[in-house]
Amino acid sequence: MPASYTGRCNCGAVTAVIDAEPLWVRQCWCRQCQKIAAGSATNNALFMTEAMTIAGEIAWASYTADSGNTVEQGFCPNCGTHILGRNSARQRANVVRLGFLEGPHELGPQSAIWLEEAPAWAAINPEIETFLRQPAPPQRPDRTEN
Ligand SMILES: [Zn+2]
Ligand SMILES: [Zn+2]
Repeated sequence: MPASYTGRCNCGAVTAVIDAEPLWVRQCWCRQCQKIAAGSATNNALFMTEAMTIAGEIAWASYTADSGNTVEQGFCPNCGTHILGRNSARQRANVVRLGFLEGPHELGPQSAIWLEEAPAWAAINPEIETFLRQPAPPQRPDRTEN
């Protein structure tokens, strides 16, 4: 039986059920993530989109990443909770913000990226893999940046 995760924004207008394990869970300290995460990192679980059932309206903001890819940040237009991240280079999988997922669950970051842009006070788990910037280009199209 596959894993099942549920998600809910702060106001409850957006909910989700995800019937899969994530491909990875990663923490991102890039400046764009700091903007949406109140100065800290985002924590992101990559799931295949086919495993996600989302109810409610999501608003999207987009920017062009250093890679040239278009990154879209999805959030609840009512309460502002960040829900999803999409990347034009990764069509079949989206990241889900860990804060959107309801607990309890065992998910936590296995790696941290963009340490080059992290603030001096950032406390990063010494037991996880870290990257100064984006990890090397992926071998699979579903393993790219957040
Ligand atoms: Zn909401
Ligand atoms: Zn980021």
